[in-house]
Amino acid sequence: MALLVPNVTWEDHAEDVILVARHLGLDPAAITGARLVRRSLDARQRRPRWVGVFRVELPDEASILARRLPGVRRWIPRDAGRYGLDAEVPPRRRFAPSVRPIVVGAGPAGLFAALYLAESGAPVRLLERGGPVEERIEAVNGFWRGRAPLDPENNLVFGEGGAGTFSDGKIYTRRRDGELGYIFQRLISFGADPASIAEAWAHLGTDRIRALLPPFRRRLQELGVEVCYHQRVVDLRVEDGRCVGVELADGAVVEGGPVLVATGHSARDAIEMMVRAGAEASPRGIAIGARVEHPQALIDRARYGTEARGELPPASYRLAFNPSSAPAARTFCMCPGGVVVPAMNHPQRVVVNGMSFAARRAFWSNSAVIVEIDPRTYGADDPLAGFRWQDAIERAAFVAGGETYAAPAQRVADFLVDRPSREVPRTSYPLGIVPGDLRAVLPDPVVRSMQAALLAFEGKLEGFAGADGVLIAPETRTTSPVRFHRDERGCSTVADLFPVGEGAGFAGGIVSSALDGLSAARAICAEAGLD
Ligand SMILES: Cc1cc2nc3c(=O)[nH]c(=O)nc-3n(C[C@H](O)[C@H](O)[C@H](O)COP(=O)(O)OP(=O)(O)OC[C@H]3O[C@@H](n4cnc5c(N)ncnc54)[C@H](O)[C@@H]3O)c2cc1C
Repeated sequence: MALLVPNVTWEDHAEDVILVARHLGLDPAAITGARLVRRSLDARQRRPRWVGVFRVELPDEASILARRLPGVRRWIPRDAGRYGLDAEVPPRRRFAPSVRPIVVGAGPAGLFAALYLAESGAPVRLLERGGPVEERIEAVNGFWRGRAPLDPENNLVFGEGGAGTFSDGKIYTRRRDGELGYIFQRLISFGADPASIAEAWAHLGTDRIRALLPPFRRRLQELGVEVCYHQRVVDLRVEDGRCVGVELADGAVVEGGPVLVATGHSARDAIEMMVRAGAEASPRGIAIGARVEHPQALIDRARYGTEARGELPPASYRLAFNPSSAPAARTFCMCPGGVVVPAMNHPQRVVVNGMSFAARRAFWSNSAVIVEIDPRTYGADDPLAGFRWQDAIERAAFVAGGETYAAPAQRVADFLVDRPSREVPRTSYPLGIVPGDLRAVLPDPVVRSMQAALLAFEGKLEGFAGADGVLIAPETRTTSPVRFHRDERGCSTVADLFPVGEGAGFAGGIVSSALDGLSAARAICAEAGLD
């Protein structure tokens, strides 16, 4: 038995039992155990403070409950999953010899699906078009430092680890259910810091995410998963309405199934492949915009009232603007102490995104300022229309950037009055920027909504739309423009085909993609396991 006790003021170097005892007005000796399960920074006051949610054990629960303190209640079994404490162990099953799952893509959805299937006893083959993470880091660094061309198979979004490998490594999600425990406890077993998992806005940073991948791979291999790199799947084998294998770029055929396609939303070829094979899909709204970059000190000043933030983390923000007369706009994927990175996988395109290291010590902060675009705006007459729209923007950005992979940029202050920028402050983008007019890149409805939103954001964070803010464009890959039709057995029109993760239109982040991969793996085990 235990209690859940929220809103406890948390201090570094103080024992959990002491903090909880102070909060409850008890003698520490009256508490037998206290564990911090969630910590967040309450920055609403002049002096921000850390607050914690604790799992508390004490003999006299009844008298605490009788006091009806806000939020204090009995700890229920589901809380262990919600706070990522319990590691679910899948039951070992027997599978018929015909069940040989193929997982396509080693991003979060594919990795966690493969892990769950293998832990359940299924013989899994994992096919990844890029290389192992060590090779991928070399390829990305080579491109950023001008030593190598853009590698279409090993880049910021493709290769072991998937799109989140060079990211801020935020691992929070709006979903709060038991499956989080499976993901968080496995990440801890591969080396993630348990303390970072307890953060309300948990982030690992690209350095720590990259470090998790080799132990993840070794675990998969120990469980018998065939982890195959440089294997680009180009077609699906469908016989009598059932997916029975895949074809690789070198012409080889891999027979097996069910087939989980966890290829992300930058793999436009893989999405087209599923549509070609008969998987039903519908166009979806997408969010388009640009990264806005500021000195981190400006954000600290606006949020904390001072640049001298001491022990506090670099300040972050989340802003939204929902006018009735125009598409909604919001900030997304804010990276405090981070950098803006080139996120394209296709040659002759420019796409940007954000990344940070665990320490979040960069001079800058950035976030995407994106506008929600309805499928009707981009003329969604077929499921792939949104990709064509994104692609046209990314090509225009390549041209506006001088066809060198430099990114077009504009001062926020100039953007607001439709004035091209002649120069911009130094930015973090590693391939150089070309100052100019983002109207050459972004469609008019996106520009107009961003302008209105940036003005509104200035009202919330002083300096946001001032002279130090720079927009770097375009941010086109925040959401998948397509959603596949699925039921609990996967694709509704092709049996044994499971489109999963971000590319399938059912996730939008590292953890939600991993959760989606897990759900598919569970469904396969429930259906195909013999016991
Ligand atoms: C720069 C950046 C920063 C981000 N920051 C965050 C963040 O901080 N927090 C967060 O939650 N989310 C973040 N995201 C989003 C997050 O990375 C994605 O939502 C998530 O990775 C999607 O997971 P997925 O497994 O569905 O697909 P992906 O991660 O895209 O993985 C797909 C995998 O499939 C492989 N593949 C593709 N096509 C084929 C094929 N034909 N054959 C074989 N293999 C193939 C790819 O190489 C890749 O490894 C970020 C994304 C980017 C680009």
